Amino acid sequence: MDEKTPEPKKKRSQACCIIPTVILILIVIGFVAAIFIIEKKQADIVADRGAAEQYSEQFNASMPPDYTVASMDEETFNEKIVKLLREYDSGTSNFSEIGDSQLMKALTADESIASAQASMKFLKDYYPEGYFLVVNQVLKTYEEQPMFVNFFLRSMDEAGRLDFVVHELSHISDLSHPECTGYGYVIEDKFISIPEIDAPQGDELLKYISQSASMDEKYLKESKQKIYTTLDEINSYTKSVRVARAYIRYQTGVIDEDAPQALSRQLYYLSLHLKNIKDHHPDAWQALMRDKGFAYVMARLVSMAKTELQAAKDEGVSGSAGTDFALSIDQNLALFEQKQALFDELYAATGLVGGLENYTQPELSELGVTIEKF
Ligand SMILES: [Zn+2]
Repeated sequence: MDEKTPEPKKKRSQACCIIPTVILILIVIGFVAAIFIIEKKQADIVADRGAAEQYSEQFNASMPPDYTVASMDEETFNEKIVKLLREYDSGTSNFSEIGDSQLMKALTADESIASAQASMKFLKDYYPEGYFLVVNQVLKTYEEQPMFVNFFLRSMDEAGRLDFVVHELSHISDLSHPECTGYGYVIEDKFISIPEIDAPQGDELLKYISQSASMDEKYLKESKQKIYTTLDEINSYTKSVRVARAYIRYQTGVIDEDAPQALSRQLYYLSLHLKNIKDHHPDAWQALMRDKGFAYVMARLVSMAKTELQAAKDEGVSGSAGTDFALSIDQNLALFEQKQALFDELYAATGLVGGLENYTQPELSELGVTIEKF
């Protein structure tokens, strides 16, 4: 008995060696497999990267965008956001779209910097227009307002933060181009400006709306957005839809339906502006009928927005399901299309017919459209 007892002990000690070894081997195999799967997934993503971006519509075929950002600018941008995020003391923003929305749960400066840098890398890889816009806008405006951090720290999730920075920074062309005397739009890598006529306030549109959305309150009742600002929202929400599409394609989760719904609602507002101006502001209507530049920019932004909405629908956004925020895409587009005759009247009066996406730069300056590199 005494001699036999060491036997099982020896077996046990062998088993004690084998089990950890097997576990270790399994961990290594699992690790290698995980790396392989991640790389394969990445390769698949890169392989079909073209499709999502090709679907979006260019502002003008004779002026294709170039989203190259000089590495010196990238460095300066990075230094600025690191500095701003370190200094930021969760101050307030008086931007109407942000209102008093909650700040992100308290992050340390290091955490918010890491998060901002990851978000910027996402934009650079998957939405270069957004990356170009954010870097250049921050470089031009950080002296005046810490816009980036203000927007960046005001959303709970990464998709929301990406949307906030791109959407809001595309609005502030008046800060980055203070020399502009008309109304300017940041489209692709360009700053595009047109003369501005005296237009009525957006709260006048409320009388036409039979089924209201909570968005109407913010954009029409409170902000009283004029037709130029509505066009600016169409531009910014088109970018929001691109962010949402890029995010769902290359990250995980479900697509943000708010952005396409809001874009379709802004198109509806645009049609109501035309109706209101024609019905109640004859002088402004006459001025718009002569304003080729406005008609051109409006036609191109509307076309780009419609293409983007179709892309979002093709990629899984529901056209018919709506929320209190903006109602459904199909419902808004149907209301917008009811007023198509007003758009046609304006295009006919200004002599704009077809092939607009191919106008050359000299042709555009003849229309009164000023185009410069952003
Ligand atoms: Zn906006």
